[in-house]
Amino acid sequence: MAPLATTEVARLLGRFREYLESRRLPITRPRLRVAGQLLAADAHLSVEELQQRLDSAGEPVSPATIYRTLELLEASGLAQSHDFGQGYRRYEPSPASEHHHLICDRCGCVTEFTHERLDRLLPLIADEHGYQARRHRLEIYGTCRGCRRAGLG
Ligand SMILES: [Zn+2]
Ligand SMILES: [Zn+2]
Repeated sequence: MAPLATTEVARLLGRFREYLESRRLPITRPRLRVAGQLLAADAHLSVEELQQRLDSAGEPVSPATIYRTLELLEASGLAQSHDFGQGYRRYEPSPASEHHHLICDRCGCVTEFTHERLDRLLPLIADEHGYQARRHRLEIYGTCRGCRRAGLG
């Protein structure tokens, strides 16, 4: 996944500040660091990966603060979390347009894709079952190209 442009990250961080302010929640440096790292991320990060990135940026933040900040980012609509069945959640900035995910069972990597025709088809399938579709979410599990090349699957 391509990271957001620096100006976009700054704009979203501004929105996060406004969200905290509007709820009279403290705007602290650790919270802004966590938000900054996540919003600028080039991958769907677990809490552990986020913590490693903050550590190596010389900005360590306690896991409790990371969890709480991620909760606030989700509540504000700026971030999304996914349960890909890996035993922990992965987080990403809320995408501007909907996308789907491919998840590797071997290395756990996550790849995004979009598919217009598929997006048009899924509501029709819902309709066949008498549903009015509101949203859909698609996850494909398997072995990624890298792992297949390495003979892992
Ligand atoms: Zn893989
Ligand atoms: Zn994604």
